[in-house]
Amino acid sequence: MCGIFGISGHADAAALTHLGLYSLQHRGQESAGIVAVKDGAVNVLRAMGLVSDKFTAESMRSLSGPVAVGHTRYSTAGSSTIENAQPALVRFRGGHIALAHNGNLTNATEVRRSLEDQGSIFSSTMDSEVIVHRLARAHAERPEEKLAEALQGIEGAYSLLVIIGDTLVAARDPLGWRPLVMGRLNGAYVFASESCALDIVGATIEREVAPGEILAVGPDGTVRQIQMTAAPEPRRCVFEYVYFARPDSRVFGGSVDRARRALGRRLAAEHPAPGADFVFSVPDSSNSAALGFSEASGLPLELALIRNHYVGRTFIQPTQQGRDEKVKVKYNAVREILAGKSVVMVDDSIVRGTTTRGLVALVRAAGAREVHMRVSSPPITGPCYYGIDTPDREQLIAANHSVEEIARRIGVDTLGYISLEGMLDAVPDGPSGFCHACFSGQYPTRPPTVPEKLRLG
Ligand code: AMP
Repeated sequence: MCGIFGISGHADAAALTHLGLYSLQHRGQESAGIVAVKDGAVNVLRAMGLVSDKFTAESMRSLSGPVAVGHTRYSTAGSSTIENAQPALVRFRGGHIALAHNGNLTNATEVRRSLEDQGSIFSSTMDSEVIVHRLARAHAERPEEKLAEALQGIEGAYSLLVIIGDTLVAARDPLGWRPLVMGRLNGAYVFASESCALDIVGATIEREVAPGEILAVGPDGTVRQIQMTAAPEPRRCVFEYVYFARPDSRVFGGSVDRARRALGRRLAAEHPAPGADFVFSVPDSSNSAALGFSEASGLPLELALIRNHYVGRTFIQPTQQGRDEKVKVKYNAVREILAGKSVVMVDDSIVRGTTTRGLVALVRAAGAREVHMRVSSPPITGPCYYGIDTPDREQLIAANHSVEEIARRIGVDTLGYISLEGMLDAVPDGPSGFCHACFSGQYPTRPPTVPEKLRLG
């Protein structure tokens, strides 16, 4: 998954992009980058690691001009290397193109092969690079028309921010998998994966970029629009509401906080835990769901697990070894709260079950008498091909075990997952118009022909 941010028409475009990326850090922690354009000259800064560590006042000085795009990345397609850090930047006979992409293209392998047959030389293993090559070859005149031309035949999930010359172009795939919101900051146009990035720069939300829509902001502030064929019904990723986005954000036009609380309330209705003493969350991503569970069940909410904020998202580590090491240092249990109690532990999802098993052991070691786990998303039974880094089927605990077996393996007394219908009813603007393939197996497109390429690059 990735976070993207772009701005046009502001003298401090790069500095604001830097700020915006801080708010999108949760969407990817492997690498970050910013490209800024001034008077036809383009400058780029890319680094492995966190925005706060890698961009200094000194390095930011090289980036100036009224147009900028930025990106935070964790790899779902292509390996975790600096060559794959975005924004991708190419200079070619027609000028320059800088591209930031959130999502996964499902036919990138075929498109790449055909471009290579025609002589293209790729400099990364990212799926996104095929769009850059297509753009460089496009014949259309205007930047937005070039992008529409380049995207023909490209399948899968993409929210894109592209600088072509001095024009900022935003686009969302026809099924609208990934979010992209447009805002205004005085005269400037701002685009971001989530509205929390608009908040941090002081911009106001104008509207969502619609599925299948391309918007181009010219250097004079004019906005041009192209509507590519939109699908009859979108397939927005429901996991953005469940886990991925920040609770202070609005995505797909709805509040993430409201969504998670409603999920928690529904979960409490579907799987109550009558004899329990209290409920607690696995911080931070399930805080709002645990609040919802507490509201609906009447059980008090306790802060029984404390998270070390200097450790990032455990899952967003490309290797299992990295994940294991981080889990150990990420959480601590509060003995004074847990000792002797029957407790409800709410989490938003169980993927491999590794973190969960470790957490349950921690909670028991702190003295909990009974542990009842409640999960605010249904069992994950299949991989995501559209941008969330869910692993292959073999590693997904719910793809291979029943709920009873999972309960035994993670060491809880009872385990309850929200139902698919319950989840889709609870999220804003549900129940239709969402992609829930990882839970239901209903993939909206044919899966990629070479799926392992998506993750290994
Ligand atoms: P595990 O028990 O190893 O399956 O890990 C479950 C934890 O991973 C939960 O706390 C989730 O909040 C978190 N999680 C779920 N999906 C993702 C994801 N795509 N990226 C990062 N963390 C995730």
